Amino acid sequence: MKGKLHIVGFGPGHSDHITPAAHRAIEEADIVVGYRTYIDCVRELLGGKQIVATGMTEEIGRARKAIEEARSGKVVTLISSGDAGVYGMAGLVFEVLRDIGWKRGDSPDLAIIPGITALNSCASLLGAPLVHDFASVSLSDLLTPWEAIRRRIEAAAAADFVIGLYNPKSGRRQKQIVEAKAIIAKHRPGSTPVGLVKSGYRDLQKVVLADLDTFLDYEIGMLTTVIVGNSNTFVFEGYMVTPRGYLNKYTMEGDVLSGQKPGQSLVVESRASIPEE
Ligand code: SAH
Repeated sequence: MKGKLHIVGFGPGHSDHITPAAHRAIEEADIVVGYRTYIDCVRELLGGKQIVATGMTEEIGRARKAIEEARSGKVVTLISSGDAGVYGMAGLVFEVLRDIGWKRGDSPDLAIIPGITALNSCASLLGAPLVHDFASVSLSDLLTPWEAIRRRIEAAAAADFVIGLYNPKSGRRQKQIVEAKAIIAKHRPGSTPVGLVKSGYRDLQKVVLADLDTFLDYEIGMLTTVIVGNSNTFVFEGYMVTPRGYLNKYTMEGDVLSGQKPGQSLVVESRASIPEE
């Protein structure tokens, strides 16, 4: 019999933020596979199921085990926090499937179920910091050369993206966030808003709104996501907000500014400041 492998992100951690589809995929499973801490996050859904809980550095084994069981006809749900396709297990599952020569139509069937990624959940706790273009960068150099990470931060900072930093710091990785700050500070003023969310939507949640000059004075760890504003991001009543740009075209009353047309490209007065192509 054909098995099924659900690859599921369960959101930031609170049961209110698990989607019904993710919830169903966990309920339907014969076997639930995941990192120990994540298994604990969804413990109340697991009654009567076989659980395969593994440690942090055992991802390849976890993916292989999930695939093997599903291949043999079981319904297996592999869980990641946030979205399984954002720094989660989904990519590794495909690498293992490719390695074993799996083809579409073979066992197991796959279902990839989206979840609320940390950038979304943490942004909601800060206000609306991601309303314009943003880049996300993981500062973990366990699997990626630091030089590549550094280059991506530099490019995102130079291009004025709001920057979301996953995996900013851990017990053994302390320097990366300090260097990331120095790179970003070459392109943005020290007053740029920076939001820190630790354990968003979990017990011990902590939300801090600081700025580029001072954010390193606050606690940052494995469960923190850092969001650095762009040149337009502002703080209002303790909320971090990146505007979409409506006031480039409209007055606050909703009237169109002279020289602009709704539904058409923004007219920029002087082209002098726009780099030549
Ligand atoms: N797949 C996950 C990301 C895993 S990488 C997702 O889509 O969210 C692990 C990093 O995610 C952590 O270092 C932290 O930066 C971030 N993170 C995950 N859960 C979080 C939470 N509840 N609050 C704040 N940051 C979180």
